[in-house]
Amino acid sequence: MNNQSMPAIFIGHGSPMNALENNNCTQQWRDLAMRLPKPRAILVISAHWYTQSATAITAQIQNQTIHDFYGFPPQLANYDYPSQGSIALAEETVAEIKPEFEIKIAHNEWGLDHGVWSILTHMYPTPDMPILQLSIDARQDANYHYNLGKKLASLRQNGILIMASGNIVHNLGLLNWHKPNAAYDWAVEFDQKIITAIQNRDVLSLTNYLTLTPMAQSAVPTPDHYLPLLYIIGASNYGDKLTIFNQEYQYGSLSMTSIMFDKA
Ligand code: ZN
Repeated sequence: MNNQSMPAIFIGHGSPMNALENNNCTQQWRDLAMRLPKPRAILVISAHWYTQSATAITAQIQNQTIHDFYGFPPQLANYDYPSQGSIALAEETVAEIKPEFEIKIAHNEWGLDHGVWSILTHMYPTPDMPILQLSIDARQDANYHYNLGKKLASLRQNGILIMASGNIVHNLGLLNWHKPNAAYDWAVEFDQKIITAIQNRDVLSLTNYLTLTPMAQSAVPTPDHYLPLLYIIGASNYGDKLTIFNQEYQYGSLSMTSIMFDKA
C-alpha cells in the first residue's frame, strides 16, 4: 500500500473533446502524472456531479463511463474509460467526513463523468488504482465547500490523490468561436484575481468570488464549475508548495487555469 503524501490538484477541464485531443493542456496532464508518486486511489470532485441533495460518494467495484453531454462526435459519445471503484475506500472516506458533514454512500448511482475521465484518460490511460467521485451539494454555500475540502486534507497522507475538476472562468453562453486561444478582458481579470487570492491564501476573497471584479457574474454565471476549486483550497496544508499551470484561455469565456498544492 502506498501511504506517500499526495497533492491536492484543481484542473480546468474545458471541453470534453480534450479526452481525444493532444494539446498543451492535455500534455501537461500527462507530464503531471509522470512526476507524481503513484496514488493509492484518486478521489475526484467534478463540476458535473452537482445535485440538490446531500454530498454523495461513489461506492462500486467497477465505474461506468458517464456521457453527460450532447452534440459531440461518436468517438466521444462511445468513449469508454474502464476503471475500478472501491466500496471500502468509500466507507473509509465517509467515516472521515461524518458527522460534521452529511454524506451518503451512492452504490452504482454514478460512475465517472467527463469532468473526470477526459482528464484521467491522459494522466492514467489504464488506471490500476480505484477512482471515486464525490458529488457537490448545490444547496450549500461557498464556505461549506471550502470546509468540506479541509476535511479531505487528511486523506492525502494516506496516498489518496485529491483532484477537483471545473473551470475558474466558465460561461458557455458567451463562448466566442473567433477566439480559440484568447479571452475577454473581464475573463482574464477574474482569473488573475483568483490566482492572486490563491497565492495569498486569501480564503475570504475566494469564497466571496462574486465581489472580486465588476464582471465576476459573467465569469461565474453558475457556481458548479467554480466550487470544485474551493475543495482544493480547503485540502491544502500550511506550507504546501503551490504550482499554477495551464493558465490558458479558450473561446473567450473559459479558463483552463489549474493549480496544485504539494508538500514542499
Ligand atoms: Zn465542464
